[in-house]
Amino acid sequence: MQRRPRDSACLVEIVEGSSDDVIRIDRVSKIYQTGDILVHALRGLTLTIRRGEFVAIMGPSGSGKSTLMNVIGCLDRPTKGKYFLEGVDVSTMGKSELADVRNKRVGFVFQSFNLVSRTSALENVELPLLYAGVSGSERKRRAKEALAIVGLSDRERNMPNQLSGGQQQRVALARALVNNPSIVLADEPTGALDTRTSVEVMEIFQRLNRERKLTVIIVTHEADISLYAERVILVRDGRIASDAPVGNRWNAAEVLRNMPEIPAESEDLEELEGRSISKE
Ligand code: ADP
Ligand code: MG
Repeated sequence: MQRRPRDSACLVEIVEGSSDDVIRIDRVSKIYQTGDILVHALRGLTLTIRRGEFVAIMGPSGSGKSTLMNVIGCLDRPTKGKYFLEGVDVSTMGKSELADVRNKRVGFVFQSFNLVSRTSALENVELPLLYAGVSGSERKRRAKEALAIVGLSDRERNMPNQLSGGQQQRVALARALVNNPSIVLADEPTGALDTRTSVEVMEIFQRLNRERKLTVIIVTHEADISLYAERVILVRDGRIASDAPVGNRWNAAEVLRNMPEIPAESEDLEELEGRSISKE
């Protein structure tokens, strides 16, 4: 990983609020209607997350994890119940008001990175600022700062297809951070990454969470990944089945230090290629 400037202080500021609860979800239901069929994706779910927590959400496919993330991230409104984001009731807001809250307070990271192709890493990170009406030079400055935080200062000009999966996810992470959100939501952020790269991404989440008190919420299928969080919530049938602190939390930086730089398989592969491909 590239050099990480230690002090890019103003990127993610701690937003002072009247309450320590950044998220308060009170008996929220979400019902989808497709044709004649009603799908109860969330069934009266109640949940509080404090500022600066690092939470992993787990649960079987179809249990309502993404629906919950969409509600938390103001992409969707609950059918019933209340949702307070930083003390503000967002459950009754209209679409444009909701979009405004979302752009200011929430950063999203997806399994599939969702970068804009044929657009450089720097421009991808600048996009949320463009939508927010930030001036060109300020956009550039903040996007560069965000890329530095994820260790990609030397990749600013690369297009997504010139970056590895891990690097693309780090660009996506920089894009999620560039607006100084209070929360970062990541739906299966390591789902498409190999083991080492997954830990590298978790290291960035842990560092931002620790140093900047950023609230991090990730959905994951992998038990290993959930151990980097401090709290694991299990969702089942649209409700919380369990909610418990992680007993022996893993430190991603430490795990990386104890991991071989190049996995054994790729060494074998290089050896194989060396034998089969004759070099001129
Ligand atoms: P998970 O992320 O845990 O796999 P989801 O939140 O995506 O679960 O889905 C929960 C339930 O809601 C599933 O039965 C799913 O089919 C349904 N669902 C999710 N989104 C929609 C939608 N936009 N329209 C209709 N049904 C949906
Ligand atoms: Mg999902």
